[in-house]
Amino acid sequence: MDRPKPTRRAVLRGLAAAGLLDALRAVPARADTGSASGAGSFAAITGVGLTTRIDPGYAAAKQVFNSRFDDATPVAVVAPTTVQQVAATLGVAGELGVRVAVRCGGHSYVGASTASGAVVLDLRRLAGGIVVNGETVTVTPGSALGPVQRRLAQSGRSLPVGMCPTVGIGGSTLGGGIGIDSRTDGLTCDRLRSADVVLPSGTVLTASETENPDLFWACRGGAGSVGVVVSMTFETSTVRDRDVVAMTFDDSAAAAAIASTVAWTAAGPRESWGTVTVATDGVDEVGATVLLIVPRGEGATAATEVTTRIAASPRASQTVGLDQTGILDLFARYSSQTPHPFVGGSDVLRTIDDEVSVAVIEAVRARRAQGRATSAIVDPLDGAVTDVAAPATVFPWRTHAAVVQWIVDPLAADDSAAAACAWLSDCHDRVRAESDGGYVNYTEAGTPPERWFADNTARLADIRRRHDPDGRIVSPWFG
Ligand SMILES: Cc1cc2nc3c(=O)[nH]c(=O)nc-3n(C[C@H](O)[C@H](O)[C@H](O)COP(=O)(O)OP(=O)(O)OC[C@H]3O[C@@H](n4cnc5c(N)ncnc54)[C@H](O)[C@@H]3O)c2cc1C
Repeated sequence: MDRPKPTRRAVLRGLAAAGLLDALRAVPARADTGSASGAGSFAAITGVGLTTRIDPGYAAAKQVFNSRFDDATPVAVVAPTTVQQVAATLGVAGELGVRVAVRCGGHSYVGASTASGAVVLDLRRLAGGIVVNGETVTVTPGSALGPVQRRLAQSGRSLPVGMCPTVGIGGSTLGGGIGIDSRTDGLTCDRLRSADVVLPSGTVLTASETENPDLFWACRGGAGSVGVVVSMTFETSTVRDRDVVAMTFDDSAAAAAIASTVAWTAAGPRESWGTVTVATDGVDEVGATVLLIVPRGEGATAATEVTTRIAASPRASQTVGLDQTGILDLFARYSSQTPHPFVGGSDVLRTIDDEVSVAVIEAVRARRAQGRATSAIVDPLDGAVTDVAAPATVFPWRTHAAVVQWIVDPLAADDSAAAACAWLSDCHDRVRAESDGGYVNYTEAGTPPERWFADNTARLADIRRRHDPDGRIVSPWFG
């Protein structure tokens, strides 16, 4: 994890032990960093990590995972270690009239955890760690998914989270959180039991089903639109050993692979998961990879059943039995963990029939025809995801078959984001008849909030207005 190095000013700040609020009130609107933004005012917050535009570590401190947003110029990156420092940062930002972009893992598709002219509140140094307490775990939201799952595995526990180990549990939970355990255990946000939230006013509230329930609702799928979440407690599940099956199919069987895998998954027990990635390198014909994750010992049967449905032989097939650590190692091996440029988006589909499966394949073929690499990943949304009613959390897609993610990753040096975004539009058009919107964790710039929050948009906007009347927290959807 890259963290801003302490600057000389930070060391000097450590010597100043004035009362926090007094110190804040005494802060002049513009301080002495030479910055025209007043960024130096954050230096009055005792003990906080601060990197401003004139510090040598600025580029590293503001770096987010999607390097398309490297040109963002936040006024400063503030890295608090305590909740009080988070509140104080919001206080200084309010006094300066500067907006706040909250950062956990920094993996937002649209660079939402950075913004020119805003202060980045980087929560990765926040104290608290990952504390397992029987069947619950309390984490600082800046923790990455990999370390959380590995710590839980040591205690025989698990959370239904996404597959990339460097994604932050903060951002991914706030947007929903889809992964290989979603059918068994629901979305990550469905396992959230309470969260501590610092509001732009500096007030710290605990949100749960019984305390500040509106705020709790907003934390489950609202994608960080309301306050700064500084602690999250989840109900965990028992860890399971699994068989992992990977099968690749030619272009001619790719559409059948999508429809058959989704149908097989939906018909099977909740402990089984099936996902399909359709990809092209821009040269060779399109291929489909079916990934099945099933209870230990059931891999061979699952492979046969899915292959029979597809009615084609896989080009290659492999089955391995793994414990939780083995599964985490596998995903870590196939995850890109260093910042790079990419373009992505999504559609949430009511059904996955033959027609829509062909539409997905045609979308990938269209990009191949441009000589460009791309992929579409189809993940099921059934099982435990459907146990929660659509209005019960902000995540609205509780009766849908699947989410398809369209992704150009990495964006080649000789390619353009505009061309990739044009392809995204084409993808949306191709599946429009079955799509009701998109999944906010696979979001796109310049889109209305209704696309991601559907019928839950108005309530979320209202909660944001009440808790953040000045729109202090940067949000791609609510301005
Ligand atoms: C390589 C890769 C793999 C992925 N795999 C999956 C997957 O398998 N399943 C899945 O569901 N998603 C997946 N995602 C999407 C991911 O869940 C979202 O991009 C998520 O928003 C990232 O969270 P973050 O904390 O890393 O990002 P950040 O960029 O830090 O935050 C994302 C958004 O949440 C806000 N936010 C973050 N933390 C807080 C907080 N504590 N309080 C208030 N607001 C906050 C930010 O301001 C920003 O708007 C993947 C993304 C990438 C890049």
